[in-house]
Amino acid sequence: MHFKEVKTPLNYNEIEQNILKFWEENNIFQKSIDERPEDKQFIFYEGPPTANGRPGIHHVISRTIKDFVCRYKTMQGYRVNRKAGWDTHGLPVEIEVEKELGFETKDQIEKFGVEKFNQKCKDSVFKYLKEWNELTRRMGYWVDLENPYITYENDYIETVWWLLAQLWKKDLLYQGFKILPYCPRCETALSSHEVSLGYKDVTERSVTVKFKLKDKENSFILAWTTTPWTLPGNVALAIGAEITYVEIVQGNKGVDEHYFLAEDRLVIIKGDYKVIGKFKGKEIAGWEYEPLFSFINLSDPEHKAYYVAEADFVTTEDGTGVVHTAVMYGEDDYKLGTKIGLPAKHTVDEHGKFNNLVEKWEGRHVKDIETETEIITYLYENNRLYSKEKYTHSYPHCWRCDSPILYYAKKSWYVKTTQLKDKLIENNREINWFPKEVGSGRFGTWLENNVDWAISRSRYWGTPLNIWKCEKCGHSLAVESIEQLKELSGAENVEDLHKPYIDNLHLKCPECSGKMNRTPEVIDCWFDSGAMPYA
Ligand SMILES: [Zn+2]
Ligand SMILES: [Zn+2]
Repeated sequence: MHFKEVKTPLNYNEIEQNILKFWEENNIFQKSIDERPEDKQFIFYEGPPTANGRPGIHHVISRTIKDFVCRYKTMQGYRVNRKAGWDTHGLPVEIEVEKELGFETKDQIEKFGVEKFNQKCKDSVFKYLKEWNELTRRMGYWVDLENPYITYENDYIETVWWLLAQLWKKDLLYQGFKILPYCPRCETALSSHEVSLGYKDVTERSVTVKFKLKDKENSFILAWTTTPWTLPGNVALAIGAEITYVEIVQGNKGVDEHYFLAEDRLVIIKGDYKVIGKFKGKEIAGWEYEPLFSFINLSDPEHKAYYVAEADFVTTEDGTGVVHTAVMYGEDDYKLGTKIGLPAKHTVDEHGKFNNLVEKWEGRHVKDIETETEIITYLYENNRLYSKEKYTHSYPHCWRCDSPILYYAKKSWYVKTTQLKDKLIENNREINWFPKEVGSGRFGTWLENNVDWAISRSRYWGTPLNIWKCEKCGHSLAVESIEQLKELSGAENVEDLHKPYIDNLHLKCPECSGKMNRTPEVIDCWFDSGAMPYA
């Protein structure tokens, strides 16, 4: 066999172009598939990129790895079909269109019209298709670009619906809350990017509060907070199981009072005191205390409140080593509440005002200085205030309107991934990770700390969540196909499954014949791309 003479110096570009030309002219990619037996398949799924952004060098890296695995398997005699795909939904697409239109709020989208907005999103998703195809070709990445799957197409959405309906039937899809950074003036949740735009140093009042223990005279657990407005929502005190706590005695207006706090935080105690006891956190877990405000009691028969609970997020870096827990206004708080079944009730409405559970301050803005002063005065007058201080910290403000952001529990749909956690961890052990640490480390840790997947988004351009609820009897169902949608809605033709069209389809309730409306959310676009093996 004769080899072609190699010219020096080497021109790599020319060599590569010649190889590409040879592959194309001789249909080598297709041959590498066709010539291998159909009963010896190696399955490869292309994780789809988004074509509304330019391809970057990081795409070359990941695609190189995908490519050489497939080529290696091909060389071992496997038939390796490689279907390309495009991820076309979600916030990144919406943000690009918003920028183009000069929009900053959801209000502007609504006024512009969801129909027109979504059309623009759809038009924009293949903006850089040419660049993507050229990059794919030039880097020698073999993938079938002729028949890609596209996540916005009706039959793709139908597959996603079918999957969601299976979760629904298994009781793995439910509505709960998610803690989001929220602007009460704009009445909208902010993305993490938006939050990062609005940090400002502010001086606020922090308070160390006395939670009076039940069945123990003149005894209090001390907890510190920078957000007095969350105190009416208090339902538990979180402590660290292995943290050392002390009981101290200190005189207060002629009475000996007992206080409990972390040993490492004794620095916050003002004046003389005597330590009379030491405990591990787990020893005081379960202790009960009285609600802070005599006019609020958030516990109910199914959800006990006002007790000391172990939590892994408690530190002794600041405060008292005891964390005041208001389930609806903090992420750690909410997770703890879900885990141990604390009551999940709002004391603040979506305008940032106290609701009717907080009778005394109902209708008042929680962040108003006067409201805050009244709360602190109440604590003082009822012997629930240990100390108050000015406290300067960096706090996020709404980048649009400058209001302080509240961390606020908003309704959200969840997939109950925690129910399958053991199985996920078990399966992860079977995976042959390279390097090993990725599987046991980053990915393993993520699985160990798995929380239910908040799957809904209050947005426009995405796979609409396929759940309809009856106005009359409250019955809900998940539609699993276009066929079923037609049947239940009486519509003869369903051309586009996106918003706003889908929201105009009302179903007839199978229980009471009442009118059923779709829940307005769309879903996280990661569910779309993850659904690809089923599409
Ligand atoms: Zn705002
Ligand atoms: Zn009904």
